[in-house]
Amino acid sequence: MDNKQKDLTRCSQDRVSVFVESIITEGSGLLRELEREALDRDVPIIRPRTRGLLQLLLTIHRPARILEVGTAIGYSALAMRETAIQEGFACSITTIERDAARAQEARRNLDRAGAGEGECTISLIEGDAAQILEELEGTFDFIFLDAAKGQYIHFLPALKRLLAAGGVMVSDNVLRGGDILNSHYLVTRRNRTIHKRMREYLRALMEDPALRTVILEMEDGAAVSVKRAFVQEQDI
Ligand code: SAM
Repeated sequence: MDNKQKDLTRCSQDRVSVFVESIITEGSGLLRELEREALDRDVPIIRPRTRGLLQLLLTIHRPARILEVGTAIGYSALAMRETAIQEGFACSITTIERDAARAQEARRNLDRAGAGEGECTISLIEGDAAQILEELEGTFDFIFLDAAKGQYIHFLPALKRLLAAGGVMVSDNVLRGGDILNSHYLVTRRNRTIHKRMREYLRALMEDPALRTVILEMEDGAAVSVKRAFVQEQDI
């Protein structure tokens, strides 16, 4: 494909994205308020199609225990809770945030939604996931990974241990706005480590015999992995 064809392809992909986003409905009530706040204040929250992906997977999978790494102001945790309530299944969501100011803001938003009680509760753990993941007990049926991208590869062993057999894990922003396909030398110096680690992470997900993973090219890229319940000896 020559450069002109590549530009045309990119242009039509952008138009497809604009079209798809135009037909996605906004969140409701508090979620909509948080979406606008995040936009105004540049708080990085999941984008509409990623929200849709999480909601779809939760609707199919109906997980009882959910783990989120990277709470920010609580938007995605609240979107997952809203889905559980709409779909009528009980769940507990544990979400981890290391930034004290964001954690405080998230707590306020969780309180506003009454997320500490009911059939689906959210509990926020403030601290660095690198340490907290090592301390968590039991397994989770669904994990949403949305924290510092350069750390995904370091979190992977703990996440694999915490993911129940048959459990689903979504890793967000894995294509880094398309930067991932660039050669190491074309990436700005300050982004090289993240670039290298994200490539390692994607390779680790794809090559792990205990996981089945698909990488979705929507928005900033999301990897959806399932921990296989039956791993044959020849697969290892
Ligand atoms: N999931 C949120 C949403 O969509 O509403 C957005 C999360 S935002 C993209 C990433 C968050 O992860 C930031 O608030 C950041 O402080 C937090 N974070 C980054 N690295 C972390 C770590 N090692 N442990 C805990 N939180 C971390």
